[in-house]
Amino acid sequence: MKKIIAVDGPAGAGKSTVSKIVARKLAYTYIDTGAMYRAVGLKVLLNGGNFADDSIVDAARDVDIKLDAAGKIFLDGDDVTTKIRTPEVSKAASDVAKVGFVRTKLTQLQREMAAQGSVVMDGRDIGTQVLPNADLKIFLTASVDERARRRFDELKAKGHAADFDTIRDEIILRDKQDSQREIAPLAQAEDAILLDTTHLSIDEVVAQILELAK
Ligand code: C5P
Repeated sequence: MKKIIAVDGPAGAGKSTVSKIVARKLAYTYIDTGAMYRAVGLKVLLNGGNFADDSIVDAARDVDIKLDAAGKIFLDGDDVTTKIRTPEVSKAASDVAKVGFVRTKLTQLQREMAAQGSVVMDGRDIGTQVLPNADLKIFLTASVDERARRRFDELKAKGHAADFDTIRDEIILRDKQDSQREIAPLAQAEDAILLDTTHLSIDEVVAQILELAK
């Protein structure tokens, strides 16, 4: 079995849902790097919402981020698992993710977390930057409409107010920001396997990755 699995792709492609299941089936640790950028984004919002580079660096300098085995995320000791899932925090995460200081710090933390092996790590730059030697690299994608529909359904199911067109616009903006930033942009690694999930069920995607992991 491949010991280090990297899953990258744009917002709403199904990375976290699929990675979580793959990790559970292989008895691996799942590491959600997006949650880490979200935690830093939330910290900037809690500090007053100033997204100038130096304010972001201040928030990130001694930030304490922990992921537990149950998938909970802690920011400076507080459980923020639910708080980081709002559209406001999605945008904040993408804003802080452009800053080199934040990326260097989180990349280092992510490498330490993966050092033991037996991990499935998902994000935007895992195959290209964080774990370039991963045993298996997957790039998950899906059409913008399908990704917006999934996010819409997810927010509705959690009881949040949601408007399809707004979500679609936010996804397009986040894709653009994530793929065009200067440092570690969202990109498919040369040796990554592309899976377009637009017409695939979660089970089908999981089955393909498990097959590739053998
Ligand atoms: O995956 P998720 O939507 O939770 O990620 C939130 C944001 O964090 C992304 O839009 C992206 O800007 C940033 N991110 C990143 N690199 C990663 C994971 C997430 O830049 N490895």
